[in-house]
Amino acid sequence: MRGLMQDWPLVVTSVIDHAAEWHGEREMVTRTVEGPIHRTNYAELHLRARKLAQALSRLGVAKGDVVATMAWNTHRHFEAWYAIMGCGAVCHTLNPRLFAEQLVYIVNHAEDKIVLLDLTFVPILEAIRDQLPNVRNYVILTDRAHMPETTLPNCLCYEELIDGEDGSFAWVEVDEHDACGLCYTSGTTGNPKGVVYAHRSNVIHGLAANGADGIGARSVDNVLPVVPMFHANAWALVFAAPMAGCSLIMPGAKLDGESIFELLDKQKVSITAAVPTVWLMLLQHLEKTGAKLPHLDRVVIGGSAVPRVMLEKFERDYEVEVMHAWGMTELSPVGTLGSFKSGMEELSFDRRMDIKVKQGRPMYTVEMKITDDDGNELPRDGKAFGHLLVRGPAIASAYLKGEGGKVLDDDGWFDTGDVATLDELGFMQITDRAKDVIKSGGEWISSIEIENLAVGCPGVAEAAVIGIAHPKWDERPLLIVVAAEGASPSKQEILEYLEGKIAKWWMPDDVAFVDEIPHTATGKIQKLTLRKQFEGYELPTA
Ligand code: AMP
Repeated sequence: MRGLMQDWPLVVTSVIDHAAEWHGEREMVTRTVEGPIHRTNYAELHLRARKLAQALSRLGVAKGDVVATMAWNTHRHFEAWYAIMGCGAVCHTLNPRLFAEQLVYIVNHAEDKIVLLDLTFVPILEAIRDQLPNVRNYVILTDRAHMPETTLPNCLCYEELIDGEDGSFAWVEVDEHDACGLCYTSGTTGNPKGVVYAHRSNVIHGLAANGADGIGARSVDNVLPVVPMFHANAWALVFAAPMAGCSLIMPGAKLDGESIFELLDKQKVSITAAVPTVWLMLLQHLEKTGAKLPHLDRVVIGGSAVPRVMLEKFERDYEVEVMHAWGMTELSPVGTLGSFKSGMEELSFDRRMDIKVKQGRPMYTVEMKITDDDGNELPRDGKAFGHLLVRGPAIASAYLKGEGGKVLDDDGWFDTGDVATLDELGFMQITDRAKDVIKSGGEWISSIEIENLAVGCPGVAEAAVIGIAHPKWDERPLLIVVAAEGASPSKQEILEYLEGKIAKWWMPDDVAFVDEIPHTATGKIQKLTLRKQFEGYELPTA
């Protein structure tokens, strides 16, 4: 028997329609790229998105075309997303932190027809414009008064563009399986690969990630996504927030501790989300100024592992609940979220932090398992670690234009490239990227775990651990450290700090001090560069 329910397509335009109709008065507050704070609401955003969709169609954007954005989190970027997707086109978010050659490759590979960009990024696109033959127009996300002198060809002003329209635009009809978003993921080898989101996957992912045990945003919340919209759907918030009707606070170009604090405080933010480096800056600012976070209930942290010191500071010193999350571009991106299960709230602070330091448990729509090198499933005992495999409706089944070949195994599992443990209650803990794990005497050492402990050592600002070739053990860990401002911790002090906190055979064979640790465009430690930098390094134990 077939179900007798309506065939209501899961398309993202229904999300903004809902927000405008039922939460039209809820505000979006933006720190604009031009400077001042700007306030609007879902009703206005909806109208302006339709005006932009009208203008884009006039510029020739049709179903299936790819339109790119290179922009901060602002009201205009939000409008652009819904306008592009509402034209039946695909919104391709460009990460401005990528190298010029990578950007050229990505824009051409995706066949972007129009690029909408913030003022900040005009120089980046000017420098490569001659290598982007498919781009017909550039639209600068500003008003006439702020339009710069530019060498970008066929360049338009965003506010002028939408001013000429009345908004009487019907969203282009699409199938829920049609593409609506595109985000490239930069592997450490080979070219970046395009992850193609569908209307359906974005709607399902937005619903699932915002569950009560997940991000948990409600209509009464004020949500600040510091995580950029060019990082995979701003972790679901571009869709989840208007679904819930919560207010969105958009940080624009200023992501430093002081600017973020100002928004958290003045806009009474209750939920926020970003990678650990952002919170490091905020915590430093709070420590310097003695400020508190009275309005903030929850901070979602992911993208890299949350160091225990950070977790404890938020929870103990500022009474903010940390929601440790794990995900990747290919998962739309959220996979796991670290909310407690029954009884855990009553545990001691230390035990609760033991749980929270893990990356959380799979949300509904994400199937998960760990396997050994031969594909045999490993036990969920919190000890065995292996390849982390996932399956679900908002998980990539292939990359754009088939790059990278077949990405699913015969049973439809996607190998995340991460190595992890799963415990009896389903909490997952990342031990490493498969290619970063240190293989010492046939056993695996988790670089992430050592790094996260090392940053807890007084005088250590940042730490990275890589494997160095060793004649006897194959590889042994080298701890690379950036000292905190004004501090000069010694090798001895750092190793003594680690002693007893990790297994003896996990202890780094040496500590190297550097001024800076290289990061990728998404803020992760660039292990490949570090490995090259330390190629041929002689360990004292070799
Ligand atoms: P991206 O696709 O750029 O978001 O990168 C995804 C990768 O980031 C994952 O495969 C993990 O290696 C890493 N990652 C994301 N979240 C976490 C986390 N909470 N802890 C440790 N690693 C993480």
